[in-house]
Amino acid sequence: MTLEKLIEESKYVTAFTGAGISTESGIPDFRSTGTGLYESGKFSGYSPQQILSRRFFSINKEIFFLFYKERLHNLLNKKPNRSHCALVKLEEIGKLKAIITQNIDNLHQTAGSKNVLDLHGNGSKSHCISCQEKYNYEQFSEMLEKSSVPRCVCGGIVRPSTVLFDESLNDDIYDLSVEFIKESDLIISIGSSLSVMPAAGLLDYRNKETCKLVIINNTPTMFDKDATLVINENCGDVLENLIAALWKYHT
Ligand code: ZN
Repeated sequence: MTLEKLIEESKYVTAFTGAGISTESGIPDFRSTGTGLYESGKFSGYSPQQILSRRFFSINKEIFFLFYKERLHNLLNKKPNRSHCALVKLEEIGKLKAIITQNIDNLHQTAGSKNVLDLHGNGSKSHCISCQEKYNYEQFSEMLEKSSVPRCVCGGIVRPSTVLFDESLNDDIYDLSVEFIKESDLIISIGSSLSVMPAAGLLDYRNKETCKLVIINNTPTMFDKDATLVINENCGDVLENLIAALWKYHT
């Protein structure tokens, strides 16, 4: 069974995406080594997981924001790649109903996808922890340039609207994701090792009788044994070929 055929036969497709879909855009998976961010010594030997936690944020704001500033800077000017664009096309032809993403890079939205569920929040957004006032990417970057701890007009601290490592997911987004997973007759997991809980547990909500699972990832995942199709190849290549093949029928 090919991916093209599975999509042709499906009516309700949901995509589940992880860091691997954005590496081609030049965004490193900070869980993997070699990002250079915390090897410089500037972060006193803390790992990204330690820094990007609520606990760390509460006690060590300067380092938290220094790290975030570099991270934000790293996301700045990044462009969606052919995988993001392929998902836009799948949505346009009515096959893809939702993208559930573990990424905070906003690249699905930048590419033009309409229904994106940001499981871990969105790095292009921030808000005040006191009055909840929202700030956009440019405003937040400006604040980070001016001050080591960004402040709202009300005096409250402005934090990124992303889910930190020791924080729970947004209930509304999680519940909505479950609904899409339950409805799906095909789930395509792209660039995720499917190891991060509770996000990966979402896949267990699929209807195992009727829903097919496709996994596109460079390395094996623990869901491979349950999948209809496992493709251990570069997701950009796979999705570009898919769109070229599907386009014959939809233009
Ligand atoms: Zn405020």
